[in-house]
Amino acid sequence: MTICPLCLNKGSFSQMNGPDKRMYLCCDVCKLVFTTTSFLPTRKEEEKRYKQHNNGIEFPGYVKFLNQAIEPALPLLSKEMRGLDYGCGPTPTLSVLLEQQEIKCENYDPIFFPELPEGLFDFVFATECFEHFFLPAREMQKIKNLLKPGGILIIMTEKWTKPEVFSRWTYAKDQTHVTFYHADTFRYISVKYKFNTLESSNPRVIMMQKEEVEAAVSELITL
Ligand SMILES: [Zn+2]
Repeated sequence: MTICPLCLNKGSFSQMNGPDKRMYLCCDVCKLVFTTTSFLPTRKEEEKRYKQHNNGIEFPGYVKFLNQAIEPALPLLSKEMRGLDYGCGPTPTLSVLLEQQEIKCENYDPIFFPELPEGLFDFVFATECFEHFFLPAREMQKIKNLLKPGGILIIMTEKWTKPEVFSRWTYAKDQTHVTFYHADTFRYISVKYKFNTLESSNPRVIMMQKEEVEAAVSELITL
């Protein structure tokens, strides 16, 4: 039986033509496109692929790429905050760039830095990692639990738009890219996980703020 790895819908999917031989399904509920489990890469294949990326502070192209996520988030960040780069890869770079702005950011990666730092964070960056999630439902819950109420989540991933574009989309050609998000998928995520969407001028960057549960509760008490 097929289950959507984000909304856990069991019944309604449309098959999508992708740019390679993998089989893609689009969830009719949350519009997540995902590869079926037989096409998921092994941990070894993933590790090999990630080590091929030219990542690191010494690569100006990569720094420029990451700055797409940092720049819109910077006005929301301050030196007193504690942040996390979720899925930092083999060569943590975003945390180094933030340190240059005197903003503390720790690193986590399930393969390369598997020890999750303890405690809660004021912000979490997840740049170019959502598309690698086998189970976005589990990862989103994990990220939500890492954030303080009112904490900021900054995601960078390329969104899919139309089936006819998806069928020749180079972003879906990478075998480690296994889940693809539509603008509607992020709307689903913000409602389901109780985040408020923040404005972003870059379609590749999605910013959202975890709801201030405490504030809502205290408002109820005063009513
Ligand atoms: Zn779904």
